Amino acid sequence: MFDVIIIGGGTAGLALATALCQQGVKRVRVLEREAEAGGVPRHCGHYPFGWREFGRLMKGPDYARKLVAKARAAGVEISTGVAVTALLKDGQLRISQNGEISEISARRIGLCMGVREASRAQRLISGQRPLGVISTGALQSMVFLHRQRPFSRPVILGSELVSLSAIMTCAHMGIKPVMMLEETAEMKARAIMRPYPALKGIPMRFGVSDVEIIGDKTVQAVRYTDADGHTQEVAADGVIVSGQFRPESALLHESHLAVDPATGGPEIDQYGRCSDPHYFATGNLLRPVETSGWCWQEAVETAARVRAGLKQDPVEQPFLRLKVEGKGLRYVVPQRLSLGAEAGGMKEMQLRMSAPASGYLTAMSAGRSLHSAFVEARPERRVLLPLAPIINAKPRETIRLRLL
Ligand SMILES: Cc1cc2nc3c(=O)[nH]c(=O)nc-3n(C[C@H](O)[C@H](O)[C@H](O)COP(=O)(O)OP(=O)(O)OC[C@H]3O[C@@H](n4cnc5c(N)ncnc54)[C@H](O)[C@@H]3O)c2cc1C
Repeated sequence: MFDVIIIGGGTAGLALATALCQQGVKRVRVLEREAEAGGVPRHCGHYPFGWREFGRLMKGPDYARKLVAKARAAGVEISTGVAVTALLKDGQLRISQNGEISEISARRIGLCMGVREASRAQRLISGQRPLGVISTGALQSMVFLHRQRPFSRPVILGSELVSLSAIMTCAHMGIKPVMMLEETAEMKARAIMRPYPALKGIPMRFGVSDVEIIGDKTVQAVRYTDADGHTQEVAADGVIVSGQFRPESALLHESHLAVDPATGGPEIDQYGRCSDPHYFATGNLLRPVETSGWCWQEAVETAARVRAGLKQDPVEQPFLRLKVEGKGLRYVVPQRLSLGAEAGGMKEMQLRMSAPASGYLTAMSAGRSLHSAFVEARPERRVLLPLAPIINAKPRETIRLRLL
């Protein structure tokens, strides 16, 4: 039997597996459904990856190859072309490989399935169903893995960091985006990146609504309502539906594991443990969405917790729930605070806003303030709050996080 089986051979899965082997865990196997391990970076043919992990800036595919090589050198067994189709109790998995279905098990399972961009249907975009409406991830795979050019003058929907990655990907194939459309009043990517579309000559429209795709077999135009309420139309031959990431959670929803509706990922405690303690989770599956460097670091830290947990049988710990409430806060990770006396848990909780907001982020339990800190953030920015003051205050009931 394997000590740890990890589902997903992207940044987090490979980092978790490598760190486990380096820490002396003997039998570690990564299952990856694609033909090659490496995850999303494998088809991000642009910088910047690798600074935190390898001390230099790399393009995605070089970075992915290095992660795979490092994992193999550490003794990780990587199985590609293996899709996990069910998460069962007691660390049992159903897998599909070469058309055969079978079951395998391990003492612990690491969930590292990452995120995916919201589809056209999930964004409720109306209009016809022509060819040429794709996510940034699909575009990257066409451009970098298959050298295909799906369109030449697309509209980009969204303005997150990944939307800028779409612009870079287009440039590789001489594709010239004609416009970027964003629902919110300003660009979601960090301030330092905001001039990038203008530098590339791409006009941006903010505060748009009612996006509609026009075209029968292929895209002809995109219609939208502008911030002043006027209907506008821009001619285009494709649409890149970028960002609005969601955890790759289909397996979770079919399983016995608790899922957090706010993040879309599994509920975890401060040790990365899911509601069934045979399962751990790390990387972007936990929440949309972080950089590769962050996911790598998070996975390395999770490895130490998994290794420590292997010394005993997995047992469900009593826990208190962490909950976001009121205006402005979107989610918190972890969602559970285990009350055991284990060492080495996360030092901070991660929060995100639902809209630009500022105020005192306050942790309350049973009407008592446990900790408070001033925060000012936008929806795509990570907000960190230390866990130690909350644990040290010895709460006895649900911990409610509010922006006051
Ligand atoms: C378009 C795009 C551009 C980006 N650009 C940058 C950048 O420039 N710099 C940066 O730092 N970050 C960038 N990122 C973010 C970075 O790619 C992620 O932070 C990182 O890949 C997260 O790692 P992960 O292991 O959590 O997920 P992933 O890398 O997504 O890996 C998840 C893996 O799990 C596998 N998997 C899922 N379900 C199953 C299953 N049931 N069975 C088996 N395998 C399964 C998937 O095939 C995949 O390989 C970008 C992301 C995107 C989408």
